[in-house]
Amino acid sequence: MFLEEPGMAPSDDNAAAAVLSAQGLTKHFPVRRGLADLLARRARVVHAVDDVTLTLRRGRVTALVGESGSGKSTVARLLSQLYPRTSGDIVLHGAVTTVRGGRAFRAYARKVQMIFQDPFASLNPVHTIRYHLTRSLRIHGNGGRTTAELEDALHALLNRVHLTPPERYLDKFPHELSGGQRQRVAIARALGANPEVLLADEPVSMLDVSIRLGVLNLLRDLKERLHLAILYITHDIASARYFADETLVMYAGRMVEGGDSETVTQRPAHPYTRLLIASAPDPDTIQGSAHEAVAHTPEDRAGGEPPSLIAPPSGCRFHPRCPAAMARCTTELPPRLPVGDADGHWAACWLYDPATVAAPRPAPSRPAVTA
Ligand code: SF4
Repeated sequence: MFLEEPGMAPSDDNAAAAVLSAQGLTKHFPVRRGLADLLARRARVVHAVDDVTLTLRRGRVTALVGESGSGKSTVARLLSQLYPRTSGDIVLHGAVTTVRGGRAFRAYARKVQMIFQDPFASLNPVHTIRYHLTRSLRIHGNGGRTTAELEDALHALLNRVHLTPPERYLDKFPHELSGGQRQRVAIARALGANPEVLLADEPVSMLDVSIRLGVLNLLRDLKERLHLAILYITHDIASARYFADETLVMYAGRMVEGGDSETVTQRPAHPYTRLLIASAPDPDTIQGSAHEAVAHTPEDRAGGEPPSLIAPPSGCRFHPRCPAAMARCTTELPPRLPVGDADGHWAACWLYDPATVAAPRPAPSRPAVTA
């Protein structure tokens, strides 16, 4: 059997071991130069991801949350080495790793697999489920030596994603399955590599609400049974609370808050995280505001728009929208600062600088709303 069985699970200590990490990961995309750029002899870039640092551990789900355009999908593509990075390191099992196609990429993909948002687009409509899964198993050397071994491996994959009985699905085409079943096939295809890391880029956002929970429960089951490290990318911070052990929040290409999911979603520290939570329907009341400077009126939720990433704001990128912005926020980039008593809870926000906490806090100002 090529997949680890529950009885073969590593110890708890090993389960929390770091598998894949990003250190100062940065990606700038060049902008096509127009006449004005040519005349001014300037080259502009989109600052898609700047200085992202995170660690994925075995047996844990890390949620990366943010609105569209915040750079979270670019982080997944960088971690999967589909995009070359501008700077920073990707560290797999302690070794800085850079691959560019060919055998090295296949060896990397054997450990790090990606699940895409649209399960229909990620499966070839002219091929059966058997073809997709067989190809994955064979490419990664997990198809066995005989036809019978291959058939066993195919059945194991479909059983693993709860598409049973397997023979009902193997010879179907993608269009004959529901959206949820297609996403399960995409997950099974990723498991065909027997990976250690799954990078799930909005894996349920294109599914009907009624079947999202089933797919999230499947991913949680895989995390627990196979001790996978999972990066769960989403714009839905409420699902991060339900599903992820750790939650990281991105805004305009930078990470702005992180900590265990319960703390980040119930006691958000960064004004942007509070804005995200205030915009998400959640039956539970958010408790314990550390700073009342951030209001939750609908006007505040709607204040401003994400900035241009070609010329991002100086200092804190959130300052044009932040109701608690101070003078230094417009010029100085806030570092990660510890928040409260929760272990590992941090926010990149000057509100948590001890010097700011000691000084009298300015009255909250309304965010600038551009027409
Ligand atoms: Fe708001 Fe300043 Fe904190 Fe940025 S650093 S989130 S502008 S208070």
